[in-house]
Amino acid sequence: MPQRPAVDPFPNDPPETAVSPRDPVARVFARIEAARDDLVALAGDLVRFPTVNPPGENYRPCVEFIGERLARSGFEIDYVRALGEPGDTDAHPRVNVIARRDGRAPGRTVHFNGHVDVVEAGRGWTRDPFGGAVEDGRLYGRGACDMKGGLAAAIVAAEAIAAEGLDAAGALEVSGTVDEESGGFGGVGHLARNGWFDRGRVDHVIIPEPLDVDRVCLGHRGVWWAKLEMTGRIGHGSMPFLGVNAIRGMADFLALVETELVPRLAGRRTRMPCVPDGARHATLNLNSIHGGGVEQAEGLPAPVIADSCRLVLDRRYIVEEDFDTVRAEIVELLERVKRGRTGLDYRLDELMTFAPTMTEPDAPVVRTLDHYIHRVLGRPSRHVASPGTYDQKHIARFGGVVDCVAYGPGILDLAHQPDEYVEIDAMLASAKIMAAAALSLTGSLG
Ligand SMILES: [Zn+2]
Repeated sequence: MPQRPAVDPFPNDPPETAVSPRDPVARVFARIEAARDDLVALAGDLVRFPTVNPPGENYRPCVEFIGERLARSGFEIDYVRALGEPGDTDAHPRVNVIARRDGRAPGRTVHFNGHVDVVEAGRGWTRDPFGGAVEDGRLYGRGACDMKGGLAAAIVAAEAIAAEGLDAAGALEVSGTVDEESGGFGGVGHLARNGWFDRGRVDHVIIPEPLDVDRVCLGHRGVWWAKLEMTGRIGHGSMPFLGVNAIRGMADFLALVETELVPRLAGRRTRMPCVPDGARHATLNLNSIHGGGVEQAEGLPAPVIADSCRLVLDRRYIVEEDFDTVRAEIVELLERVKRGRTGLDYRLDELMTFAPTMTEPDAPVVRTLDHYIHRVLGRPSRHVASPGTYDQKHIARFGGVVDCVAYGPGILDLAHQPDEYVEIDAMLASAKIMAAAALSLTGSLG
């Protein structure tokens, strides 16, 4: 049997008898209402750990703070260091925390996952980015919105269920993970590859990313980052006809991209509810281009024919596309360019690929969140999908858990901005919605 909490985390709550006649959802809502100040304090405490990534500072003390807190509510705590993953060093260890509390009977497992890393503060702040100031119903700080406010709401939701003894069935898990801002390989990616998100162990996952309190994010588009190098033949710059200029080959390729590929991608509209609307199509970004030799410090040209030109591209693809086609249509353009210029060749290297992932709108986690969003906020939920990826990719690809969404407080546009904040009312509402969804999905409502 799981340990019961040694200390009541809600000491100011009305006595049990005053609330027990009400239904379990009403009881958990009352608990969370009473924990408002505690929720704000917790979110502020999390913001005050400057868990800046890169390089990945203060991860261990932050996740230990979460683990020690949830242990007091009877959760079993595991710390998992992502040894060997990118960025993991003794100076900056990639440490994650997973807290689990089993209910009194078998049922399904609901997992709340939040990343603890934040991007650098940057310029333009009018408040201390790691101070956690509270003003006018908002909590300010780097990560307040993305996504320590959401993580704090998930923790308080889990604690309220435990404190009310409402975990009749299944299990509840909360994880604080690292490196989401840099791809998640040392965080959810590592956990998912090592069985922590296996289907059977975990059934439903809610990631409280800042999608706004009435929106459920079903998934995200896929990504393919690739490096292209065109190669030609070097020669004297005064006699370009004696060499093969790789920059001109790249120009041919870019012309085909503009005239053929980009219009074709714009014509593909996805059924994924991506926001903003421009992301409802397949897209291609040209990230960087470098051609020819390095210019001299004095500004003199490299006196040769450019025999190399490199390009990094970022192709975002939709559920209606498959990866082989995505790659093949780039290769087809490259082959045409190559045929048109004798001596020109190319090499295409993959940098990173993640398939698009989308949970269906009628999936259990979506329908349950829809129901409680309506009950708590008095308006219907909206479904969205993200233009860029987040940790859902690892859960779907390595864990095989398909009933996964992002849902949490905070306005996405504020993420990574100066004076980032989260609305306290939104944190509180999302904590209630997550708690009620967890009760329903674990089977604890009978
Ligand atoms: Zn985030």
